[in-house]
Amino acid sequence: QFSATGVQTCFHGRHIQPQIYAGLDGTNWRLKDYEARGGYQALRRILGKDGGDGLTPDQVIAEVKASALRGRGGAGFPTGLKWSFMPRQFPGQKYLVCNSDEGEPGTCKDRDILMHNPHIVIEGMAIAAYAMGISVGYNYIHGEIFQVYERFEAALEEARAAGYLGHNILGSGFSFQLHAHHGFGAYICGEETALLESLEGKKGQPRFKPPFPASFGLYGKPTTINNTETFAAVPWIIRNGGQAYLEVGKPNNGGTKIFSVSGDVERPGNYEIPLGTPFAKLLELAGGVRAGRQLKAVIPGGSSAPVLPASIMMDCTMDYDSIAKAGSMLGSGAVIVMDDTRCMVKSLQRLSYFYMHESCGQCTPCREGTGWLWRVVDRIENGQGRPSDLDLLDNVAENIMGRTICALGDAAAMPVRGMIKHFRHEFVHHVEHKTCMVPAYV
Ligand code: SF4
Repeated sequence: QFSATGVQTCFHGRHIQPQIYAGLDGTNWRLKDYEARGGYQALRRILGKDGGDGLTPDQVIAEVKASALRGRGGAGFPTGLKWSFMPRQFPGQKYLVCNSDEGEPGTCKDRDILMHNPHIVIEGMAIAAYAMGISVGYNYIHGEIFQVYERFEAALEEARAAGYLGHNILGSGFSFQLHAHHGFGAYICGEETALLESLEGKKGQPRFKPPFPASFGLYGKPTTINNTETFAAVPWIIRNGGQAYLEVGKPNNGGTKIFSVSGDVERPGNYEIPLGTPFAKLLELAGGVRAGRQLKAVIPGGSSAPVLPASIMMDCTMDYDSIAKAGSMLGSGAVIVMDDTRCMVKSLQRLSYFYMHESCGQCTPCREGTGWLWRVVDRIENGQGRPSDLDLLDNVAENIMGRTICALGDAAAMPVRGMIKHFRHEFVHHVEHKTCMVPAYV
């Protein structure tokens, strides 16, 4: 099925132990549907509205810490630990921000959550705001998916009308105002400090860190930023307990994760599975490699993650630690599958163009280096490569990494190094024979 966002969604059982996708059918996004699935029970529980005493903010953070929930936006930072950085006694305004500026090539999960289960994000944010003593929040939604923004606005209206947002929520004394904001499609605004700049109405360019957002965030105030999927995981954790969430996944990798599987598979789409599930199982859920062809390589975590050859990938489990051990990153969970008809030089040419195009231009190594990377890969692809070009690519990549304000520079350099490390022979063939060694798809 394709949703209104153009994302291929998977509502019919092609998930394993789903938490965010549980009970979804593509139409039941409204408040009454969410409540029928147990929605807002977690918020009611912490506020003492289910007959119990409620949970203190410290108890909520302790549950999230126990769950081993790691940030689903890409970095995989422990969520409970991030929440504990918020200075709760800070006397002025503090902010909570949801990063829904999903723009990583291959990633299409956050828009799917917001479209089909928006209240789970609202509830997760309200719980987070309670835990950190925050009264105002924003959800920054990617600019090219305006219908998702409209859906989230509609859900916000329902939540406000039902008393789950606003002043004195459910008569508890806790207040939380949540607003939606849409960007204008710049990839760099997914970087948290660029997002804050954009939210403030400025040009979306990353800030130098430190200071980190926990002390100097939106409008210079303490701010906690989490990804859409991270907030969506929170209600299940509070309803079922942090330990239960941890046990769904594996140590240090609690819970389920939504993987956006694209490329050369029979059924591309979003799949929610426990962290630690073998990659082979995920590939099976996605229908296997298209037309029975051979798996060649996989980019396991969005375009910034180094590519892994099939021989390594088939031994991996889908969790942060296994993929890192294999030499790549789980990132945002965008799994790009490539079969034996894919040319790695051509693939890298496209990736390099993307990063050159999306560089904000603030730092010289990124602004100039991403252009260098693209131009060199482009001439190799077009049969004009030189024998020294592979060393040149490595040198440029090395001189970008670790020398820029934000991670986009590294994100541009890492795929180059990964491709050349595992598929050097293809680049050498292009240089020596001025043509591609990979047979075209028939
Ligand atoms: Fe901008 Fe690139 Fe520097 Fe990031 S690394 S601040 S995108 S120029």
